[in-house]
Order: sequence, then structure tokens, then C-alpha cells
Amino acid sequence: MISARGLTRIYPRESDAIVALDSADFDAKSGELVLVTGPSGSGKSTLLSIVGLLETFTSGTLSFGGTDVSAASEAERARLRRGRIGFLFQDAGLIERKPIVDNTALPLMYRGVPTRERTIRATSALEAVGLGDRIHHTPGQLSGGERQRAGLARALVADPDLLICDEPTAALDADTASDIARRIVAARERGAAIILATHDRDLHSLADRIYELKRGKIVDVREKSS
Ligand code: ADP
Ligand code: ADP
Repeated sequence: MISARGLTRIYPRESDAIVALDSADFDAKSGELVLVTGPSGSGKSTLLSIVGLLETFTSGTLSFGGTDVSAASEAERARLRRGRIGFLFQDAGLIERKPIVDNTALPLMYRGVPTRERTIRATSALEAVGLGDRIHHTPGQLSGGERQRAGLARALVADPDLLICDEPTAALDADTASDIARRIVAARERGAAIILATHDRDLHSLADRIYELKRGKIVDVREKSS
């Protein structure tokens, strides 16, 4: 699904430059759960933003679903993102003034799914995360864990080929965090590639591959021993 070689992202500063990502080789295949770990500031978010086609890079190559997207335009990256990638970030990123059923339906709207079908699919995605009786509530009426579950419903509603999660459990209590983690891992069964940046050690045993970043460099790659 994702294959990156020599990915480098440099942020210029006034006197020097910061190398947020340094010659990273990275792969995530369909049906794999891939973890990205490393201390704060090591480049995890930068890597996820690039392979999620949210940000561009300075040098290297990136292939998405077998297509070279290294030089893709913003319009082309947006088209691929909206059609094929689900995102879940630490704060869930929900629109506060909209009920969660509308938040969840948003990726389907981008895909041109008709209104009625959007509502049906969004409702069933929310039921699947245990929020079936809360669909008309706005994010502000939910607890942190419930918002994260709604964010996960939105990330999965359009059956993405790639699911990108950046510290999705960081602000949650242990029980809620392990519930969210379990649901993310379950998405792998449907054949999606899952890329997850996390400090959560509990997830390590479930991963197919773990990349460890330090100051923008991949310093270790561990494959699941099979
Ligand atoms: P992590 O997700 O592991 O905490 P990041 O990818 O957010 O790390 O950041 C990697 C490095 O790149 C950090 O030194 C950070 O300060 C820098 N960085 C990230 N985004 C930007 C930006 N938009 N402008 C300048 N520097 C940035
Ligand atoms: P947590 O213990 O996970 O932080 P809260 O104590 O914030 O959760 O909320 C407990 C329950 O009350 C949750 O189901 C939450 O959705 C609900 N709740 C909290 N605030 C509101 C609100 N303003 N309107 C409706 N429901 C709310």
C-alpha cells in the first residue's frame, strides 16, 4: 500500500534548517499493522503526514497503492486522501457544532455517496463503536473516550485502504485506550493497512513491523517473529 525510499523532510529556519525526517525507508502493506515509535520530536507526525498525503517532502520517493505519488499535485493527493485514507488523531478532530452522525458521514460526502445512504452508513459505523444512542449529540456532549470512538467511526466509515492513527490513545484512560486500540487492530482484518504512531507498549505484540525513529532517522526496524 505504502512504499517509501529515502524520504527526507527539511524545514528551513532563519539561520539553519531542521531535518524532521532523514532518508527514511518505510513500508506498510495491505492487512499489516505497522507501528511508529520514538521520543517526542523524533519525526513520527512528519512521517505520518507524508505517507498520509497531507504533506509533501523534500527528497525521496513515495508510492501509494502501486502509484508513484512523489510528484503528485495537491489536487491529486487530496483526491487519493479523500477516497482511500482514514485518519484518527489524538484529539479526534471532530467539528464541534455538528452532531457526530454528520461528522462521521463527512468522508462519505467527499466520495459522493447520496445523503440517505450516508446517514445509514454513519449510523451503523457509530453503532459499531457503541455510540448508537448518541448519534445526534455534538462532540462537546461526549467524554474524551467517546469522542475518540466517534473519530474512529469517521476514520473507518468509508472503508479506507489505509488507516493512519497519530497517538490515538494518548489522552485516554487505560481501559478506553485498550478498547480503541482493539478496534483499530480489528480494521486490519478487513485488509486495510494500518499505520499507528504510539507510545503504547501494549500494542507492540500486535504489530507486524515496528519502526523506531530518533532525530528524524529510522534507527531500528523490528519484524514480527513468526
Ligand atoms: P514527533 O511526531 O515524533 O513528535 P514531529 O514530526 O512532530 O515529531 O517533529 C519532528 C521535528 O520537526 C521536530 O524537531 C519539530 O520541531 C520539527 N517540525 C515539525 N513540523 C514542523 C514545521 N511545520 N515547521 C518547522 N519544524 C517542524
Ligand atoms: P469521562 O468519565 O469519560 O470523562 P464524563 O464524566 O465527561 O466522562 O461524562 C460521563 C458521561 O456523561 C459520558 O457518557 C458523557 O458523554 C456524558 N456527558 C458529559 N457531558 C455531557 C453533556 N454536556 N451533555 C450530554 N452528555 C454529557
